[in-house]
Amino acid sequence: MKNLSILAIAILLAVSCGSHKLFKDGQSDYTIVVSEDATPSEKYAASELRNWIKEVSGVELPVAGLDGGKKGKRLIVGYNTLTETMVPGSVKPVDRDDSFTLTSKGGDILFWGGANRGTLYAVYSFLEEELGCRWFSSKVSVAPHKDSWEFSQLDRHEEPGIIIRDNCYLDVRENPAFSGRMRNNFVNLPGEKPGETLPGTAEGYWGVHAMGYLMTPEEYYAEHPEYFSFRDGERLSGYSQLCLSNPDVLRICTEKIRNVMRQNPDFLIYSMEQGDNRLYCQCEECETLAEKYGGQSGLMVWFVNQVADAVKDEFPDKFIGTFAYQYTRHAPKDIVPRDNVVIRLCSIECCMFHDYDDCEQNVAFMKDLKDWSAIAPNLYIWDYVTDFAQYCLPVANWKTMATHIKDFRDNNAIGILEEGDYQTVSCELRELRAWLLSKLMWNPDADVDALIEDFTDGYYGAAGKYVREYIALSDSILRRPGIHSDCYIDASDPMYTDELISEGRKIFAAAKEAVASDKVLHDRVETAEMPLCFLQMHKNPVVGFQEGADALVRRVVEREGINRMAEGEWSGGIMEAKHLLDNYAKLAESFKEAPQLSAADVNPTVHGVSFQKYEGSFMTTSQMVWREDPVHEGILPFIKIDTEPELDHFGYVFDCWFKAEVDGIHQFKIVSDDGAVLYLDGTEVINLDGSHSPKTGIAFVNLQKGFHRLKLRYFEDCEGQMLDIYLAAPEGFNGPLPANRLFIP
Ligand SMILES: [Zn+2]
Ligand SMILES: [Zn+2]
Repeated sequence: MKNLSILAIAILLAVSCGSHKLFKDGQSDYTIVVSEDATPSEKYAASELRNWIKEVSGVELPVAGLDGGKKGKRLIVGYNTLTETMVPGSVKPVDRDDSFTLTSKGGDILFWGGANRGTLYAVYSFLEEELGCRWFSSKVSVAPHKDSWEFSQLDRHEEPGIIIRDNCYLDVRENPAFSGRMRNNFVNLPGEKPGETLPGTAEGYWGVHAMGYLMTPEEYYAEHPEYFSFRDGERLSGYSQLCLSNPDVLRICTEKIRNVMRQNPDFLIYSMEQGDNRLYCQCEECETLAEKYGGQSGLMVWFVNQVADAVKDEFPDKFIGTFAYQYTRHAPKDIVPRDNVVIRLCSIECCMFHDYDDCEQNVAFMKDLKDWSAIAPNLYIWDYVTDFAQYCLPVANWKTMATHIKDFRDNNAIGILEEGDYQTVSCELRELRAWLLSKLMWNPDADVDALIEDFTDGYYGAAGKYVREYIALSDSILRRPGIHSDCYIDASDPMYTDELISEGRKIFAAAKEAVASDKVLHDRVETAEMPLCFLQMHKNPVVGFQEGADALVRRVVEREGINRMAEGEWSGGIMEAKHLLDNYAKLAESFKEAPQLSAADVNPTVHGVSFQKYEGSFMTTSQMVWREDPVHEGILPFIKIDTEPELDHFGYVFDCWFKAEVDGIHQFKIVSDDGAVLYLDGTEVINLDGSHSPKTGIAFVNLQKGFHRLKLRYFEDCEGQMLDIYLAAPEGFNGPLPANRLFIP
């Protein structure tokens, strides 16, 4: 709305006052004016202005000091004596102030804000809003060519919605110039020096989970086990937490963080945060303090307040940061954080798909957010916005990214860390996500749909509308009633339906068609399609191979240089991109070598599976049928081990006709504990024989349409028992082997 009224005023003035030409047909009378005393960031702003105007117009404007250029033909960068005179009543902003003003006086345009970044943002705002430049990623910038550009009056003032904006996507983290253009202002890599040479990444946060490495058991445990968590009668010697009630722990932590602050003076906030585990100290003193202050967070604030008091005189402009995370997430009682303490509240347990006030999984977090907001002078949010179990999987938080940021802003958050694929570049639509989050942290009220349209049209060209169509599809399928999702999603999650994959791939086929003649755009669309191909290979490689899903994933992984697919091994998903491609290669090999089996000349009509049950102790399915006679025989509706789960030492032989609906390669998958062997038309296709914990076996079989004899031998030795059998068929069926395809012999 604000921009609209600015536009309206600009149009009115254009009609009434005539206009000023910045450039026309490769010519310009303008000079960029910047004080010799300007900060490096402001001088950089002047060079960015010159470079991007050149990209747009072909004209390279001269850069001069404050006495340079002709009156009415100047682009004046930074707050200086000219600004003071030309804009009466204006006040020089403090260096850290990221807000900016862009205004014209006659033909002169003035760009100013805080000297660290505000002025730079005034320049970027001009380049984006007036000249149409876009920075979509560190690699993709757009500077639309213009023959001429003129203006009558410019008046723009903007302030950041969130003061500290930390966009934790790898492409942003590793590219300070891009980060600056997106108006992010953070870097939190320990040892990396924020400052003047990294425009846009100057508000540092030193460390994370720092208590875990400021005082380690290796250094202190032998002489002082009492410094560490007391649990079940002993002090823990491994990675746990500190005994916060111990005065020596407070003294050492204070000394250590003071040294860190002296040695790394460029950061704004210094981590005094719990280690990444839940093993807090349960000694009597710690428990007493926790009880007094309303829980573990109360004890934490009590401790961190004392550290903050101790360093305050020496570092009056710095902050001590601590977590409200897992066991410290609830706000404390009868204690409040000091003015120089930052509380970093983490949304890790939240449902990403719904608003905080519209999802039962988020009610508790919303309460914590409000409770902390009421007592913390500096609340900072660590927000999780992607799937860390498998980075590339579709995540339907397109709407909620914005509403969550608004909730943070409305609850007085001074900063947000948006944690994305910080280790790699494999998130679904990662360029769009990183861009969108930057825009929303700057202006939480921005129109999300308009932003998505702006980005997708600019980044995907004629395919942009299809990418939006895919986002709408994903949103409608993944956010069906009853589906909730935190930031650890498995590829086997039932919300990833066949419909999502098949309809989504249809949309991407149209998208690729629309940009078929442009290799660059075509590649970008392929990258956007990769998550669906990954899912398809996971769910139904038969169709995946048929439709080239494996090849597309391979091309994208290699082209984008994707190395990892998950945050850690612990996620249960596929971690190394190399392993994923190796798996595909192995699958492709067995796909090619799938045995061909002709249909039998039979026509069974009664559904069911005949079975023989065995009892006894065997080590293989062969031993079972050689040594024993069945104790029971009968008919079951489908293949299942119909036995009490605690029983051991039994087995089954199942026998039926399986109906192939169409010609082509079918995939059978068995997960068994213990042994299982599958035969089709007398050919052994899966062998998981022997006594073992759950194992998975996969077979591709090229079946002629019609009936095939399916036999399955299974035995349970001892402990766990399991027998699951799945089918992926070329006509698209994918799921547990269905009863309606099985017939009694
Ligand atoms: Zn303790
Ligand atoms: Zn939810």
